[in-house]
Amino acid sequence: MKIKLDQQGNLKFPAQFLQRRNLSAPLEFWLFEREGEPILLPRLPNLRKLYIEVTTGCNLQCRFCMRNIWDDPIALMTQDIFDAVAARLPYLPELEEVVFTSFGEPLTHPNILKMIETFTSRGLRVTLGSNGILLNPKIVSELMRLGVYRIMVSIDGAQAETFHDLRGANLQQIIANLEYLKELKKPTCHPPARVGGGVRHSQIQRQRAPCTGTIGIQFRRCAADRQQRAGLHRGHGGSNPIWLRPC
Ligand code: SF4
Repeated sequence: MKIKLDQQGNLKFPAQFLQRRNLSAPLEFWLFEREGEPILLPRLPNLRKLYIEVTTGCNLQCRFCMRNIWDDPIALMTQDIFDAVAARLPYLPELEEVVFTSFGEPLTHPNILKMIETFTSRGLRVTLGSNGILLNPKIVSELMRLGVYRIMVSIDGAQAETFHDLRGANLQQIIANLEYLKELKKPTCHPPARVGGGVRHSQIQRQRAPCTGTIGIQFRRCAADRQQRAGLHRGHGGSNPIWLRPC
C-alpha cells in the first residue's frame, strides 16, 4: 500500500486501512524511529495489560539466563518510578491486568507485596511471574490475601538433576511450595498456578515428571500458547504500531 506526503506535510491513510485497524479521526500518533525505520503508534488509551519489571536482580544464577551476558548493573525499581506508574493509571481506562515479570525475580524486591496491593486494591488482575523458590508459605499466604489472580512459575527441567544442572536449585523445594499453594487455593481455585519454561513435551511424557502427578500441574505445548498470544494481539486492534517504509 502506498500513501503520499503532500506539500503541507500531511499523510492521508486510506479509509479501508483505518477501518481495518479500528482507527478514526481525530487521532494523534507518536512518531519514532527503530533501526532507521519510521514508526507511527496511535495514541489510544486502550492498553489492557501492563508489564512491570521491578528488578533485574535474582536469587538464582541459571546457566541459560540472558542476564549472564548483560553488562548493566543490577537494579531495583525505585519507589518514585513505581509511584509515577501508579499515578498514570487513570490515563489507562481499559487496563485489566498488571503482570510482574521479566528478567529478574520480582519476589526479591523488598516492596513487591505493597506494589501488588497498589493494583489489586483498584480491582485490577495481577499476575506474578516467579522462579518459585521464594514462594514460601508466608509469601503465598500474603499473595492469596492480596487476591493475586495468577502465579506463573518457570521450571526449566522436569527432573531434579536436569533442573539442578540448569538452575542450580532444588526442584523439590519448588514442588513443596506449589503443593502448599495448591492446598491454600483449594476453597477459591485462585490464584491458578501456571508452570512454564523450557521443559520438553517428550521429556515429560517419557520420564513422568514428578511435578505433574504431585501437584496436579498440567503442561501444555508451547504452540497452543503461541496461537493464543497471536489471537490476543489481533484482539488489541488499533494500538499496534504502524511501520512506515518510504519507497
Ligand atoms: S530465575 Fe529467571 S531471571 Fe533468575 S537467573 Fe534464572 S532465568 Fe534468570
